[in-house]
Amino acid sequence: MIIGLPKEIKDNEFRVGLTPGAVKILISKGHQVRVETGAGEGSFISDEEYRAVGAQIVADAEDAWSAALVVKVKEPLPSEYPCLRQEMILFTYLHLASNELLTKALLASGTTAIAYETVQNHAGQLPLLMPMSEVAGRMATQVGATILQKNQGGRGVLMGGVPGVAPADVIILGGGTVGANAARIAVGMGAQVTVLDVNYDRLAYFEDLYNGRIQTRKSNAHTIEEAVYGADLVIGAVLIPGGKAPWLVTRDMLPRMRKGTVIVDVAVDQGGCVETSTPTTHSNPTFEIDSIVHYCVANMPGAVPRTSTFALNNQTTDYVLLLADQGIGALSENPALQLGLNTYRGQVTHPGVAETFGFKY
Ligand code: NAD
Repeated sequence: MIIGLPKEIKDNEFRVGLTPGAVKILISKGHQVRVETGAGEGSFISDEEYRAVGAQIVADAEDAWSAALVVKVKEPLPSEYPCLRQEMILFTYLHLASNELLTKALLASGTTAIAYETVQNHAGQLPLLMPMSEVAGRMATQVGATILQKNQGGRGVLMGGVPGVAPADVIILGGGTVGANAARIAVGMGAQVTVLDVNYDRLAYFEDLYNGRIQTRKSNAHTIEEAVYGADLVIGAVLIPGGKAPWLVTRDMLPRMRKGTVIVDVAVDQGGCVETSTPTTHSNPTFEIDSIVHYCVANMPGAVPRTSTFALNNQTTDYVLLLADQGIGALSENPALQLGLNTYRGQVTHPGVAETFGFKY
């Protein structure tokens, strides 16, 4: 099959859909890959690296888009809609429930569109979202540690302390993928870490893995207050699947927190788990309310596109290979991939998207 790799054109998107390693695997299985020139630039991957593994470098986006399978990172933008065709399979993040214009463009063109974010394995996990949660979780601690510096607005506390001086008190709200990765880095930096979750199994996971090195608390209004009032760094990492994040830290709690406490609300992409959170950008990531510094960047992995590109490819490549080998037939053999199908020959094929826009499903 011919596989196309267009350059991402969305503002500030520096990831790329396929790494040279993924391209090499596809080519070794007899497929051809057309890479738009400069596609890997944002992740510091050169055309030469793609050429070296056998890819064809094409000058125009249209040449990459004309392939039977097009692999991307972000959803097509309106200027790319004319490239959508019935004969193509598009494999990328789509988030159609919040994009009616794109949904209509995919339906009108008859594109077979498979969304990374709805691929779901038998355990109910979303394997193509998980790598970005891993990146965001690890980054949350890293970013929080920096903002804790006095010159960044924070309390001027060093994460690991020093002999004779207490380390930073790090509170993690939600112990899922983001929370576990944030905790891992915080422990590595020598901080004192407490994880709060409503799910007992998640608390038991931390207890088993860290053997007391991480404190765990059942999350409720009381334990949250107790934890955040003594915190140096609060990391918001909750998720209610398909819903808005609950406000676990409310506006009236801020004055009772210590001045210079840093909140990194990773859940801001789902509305945030702190009432005062509003989405920020990498160019202007923080703001202060009541002397509490908020970091609320909604696309944290965008700051580390190289790591994010490789992390994403580690999860997507097997699926790309399945699609390249078997075309749309791959879906009937792979229930996880089947759940990724959002539109097919002018029909919405995902219940969530159909429900949102009132399409027949
Ligand atoms: P996850 O499902 O793996 O974990 C969420 C955890 O929150 C679960 O363990 C759940 O039990 C827990 N939880 C639910 N309600 C809670 C409550 N009231 N108190 C405490 N814990 C509670 O989800 P995840 O992959 O870790 O993602 C977490 C959030 O981070 C999501 O909103 C996700 O969209 C977001 N995210 C943001 C970025 C970004 O760039 N800002 C990147 C990746 C993920």
